[in-house]
Amino acid sequence: MGERVFLNGDLVPREDAHVSIYDHGFLYGDGAFEGIRVYNRRVFKLQAHVARLYRSAHALAIKLCTHPQELISAIVATVRANNLETGYVRVTISRGVGLGLDPAHMKDVAPTIVVSTAQLGLYKPEMYENGLEVITASTRVPPAQCIDPQVKSLGKYINSINAKMEANRVGAGEALMLNVNGNVAEATGDNLFLVSNGELTTPPTSEGALPGITRATVIELAKEIGLPFRESITTLFDCYTADEAFLTGTAAEVIPMVRLDGREIGDGRPGPMTARLIAEFRQATATDGLEV
Ligand code: PMP
Repeated sequence: MGERVFLNGDLVPREDAHVSIYDHGFLYGDGAFEGIRVYNRRVFKLQAHVARLYRSAHALAIKLCTHPQELISAIVATVRANNLETGYVRVTISRGVGLGLDPAHMKDVAPTIVVSTAQLGLYKPEMYENGLEVITASTRVPPAQCIDPQVKSLGKYINSINAKMEANRVGAGEALMLNVNGNVAEATGDNLFLVSNGELTTPPTSEGALPGITRATVIELAKEIGLPFRESITTLFDCYTADEAFLTGTAAEVIPMVRLDGREIGDGRPGPMTARLIAEFRQATATDGLEV
């Protein structure tokens, strides 16, 4: 059997999984999404991803007719149908089909819900050993009064894509994004952590960081191993002068950041606390998660 895609209640062959040219996600970026990883037939942090998707939908006033538990079952069914042992699940929702931006004209329209699976290798294995070179993008994260960065909305990613292209242009692996006040928010698709003087810090979500699920996992792991942690408003100076730095995300997992804007961070090599947290994270992904 070929690859299947869950589309609005049905598991259909991938080549038949079509969305309308008038879908609000396509027309206006009016929707939200989640990226989820499967490790050895275990879906990692599935509940947390689905909960975040429902929070995003709620913030966008998109009413998903499906109960979260039904969506969880749909995700599990898609993973099973595609015999996905290790890989990536993309859950995408939109307000539904309707030409014209006014949602008032879409009263009887059901949201579009798509669950698809893929293989995803974001960085080569040696990057996890040697660390990433990162730049600061000129593209800023939008203030919450405009597009709330805490909502994992489709439309907000034009910004991340722009910043990622800035990194690509200079051969960097990632880009840090500042908020409009000049403080560091996060990377284009990852959260940022620093280790300085034996303490782990990350920017608060109110500074423009997505409430990352890998971020929450790393915070939990830090507590378990007794590493002091606090959320902290973070400047570029804090990044340049940190002992260690790393990025976290479902796709990127936990990856060291060893250079920023041409400056070495610490001694320019992944630090011991980063290595410890990477090991703890890999252990968690190998043993936690919903078995499918
Ligand atoms: N920030 C942004 C902008 C992202 O797109 C992501 C990826 N979802 C993250 C941070 C990391 O979040 P998570 O750990 O939940 O994947």
